[in-house]
Order: sequence, then structure tokens, then C-alpha cells
Amino acid sequence: MGYECYITDSPVFVPENFREAFDTPCDIRRADPMDFEWYKGSGVPRDRHPLGGSIKFRACAACESENVLVIAAQWNVHRMNGDEYYDYELVCDDCGKFTRVSFADND
Ligand SMILES: [Zn+2]
Repeated sequence: MGYECYITDSPVFVPENFREAFDTPCDIRRADPMDFEWYKGSGVPRDRHPLGGSIKFRACAACESENVLVIAAQWNVHRMNGDEYYDYELVCDDCGKFTRVSFADND
């Protein structure tokens, strides 16, 4: 799987109305006990995200702006083989596009 990056006009990991749907910029939200711990919210700067030490958040993939907010992120290490997995989504304050990254530390 490796590293995948997509540019979209609408968010995928959060509702389209994420700015209103979340009352905090970034909090842990778990859909059910078996699900990953996702940080989701109305958006937090990359250097203030709780997973900033584990994930190197990129700039906007559409316009390379650094003026982005992290609206969703999860990070996981496989219990058996130590492989690292993460997904995250950014919104760009300059071009308004969404950048979505999925990473799997295998193959
Ligand atoms: Zn942009």
C-alpha cells in the first residue's frame, strides 16, 4: 500500500459541515471499541496536533500552502510486526481543497 495522497473538494473522514459539526478543533473520537482512535475536529494547525510527533504532516497537496489545518488523523502500530499505519486529512485555508494521506509501513 505504501504512501497514498489524494486531493478532493470535499472532506472524506469528516462531515462536509465539519466546522459546525465539531465543537472542538481536535479531540479523540472512536466510533466503537474496535475502531481506531481518530482525532477529528474543526481543525488544528499541524504543529499543535497531538500526533505531530508521530506523523509528519505535509503541506497542501493542491497548492503547497503551509496554511493548512488537520481535521482528521489516526496513527497505529501493528501489535505483531510493528508496522506503522496512519491516515490524515487537511483542509487548506488558501485554496480550500482537502488533502488526504494514507500510509502503511509494508511492501
Ligand atoms: Zn491549498
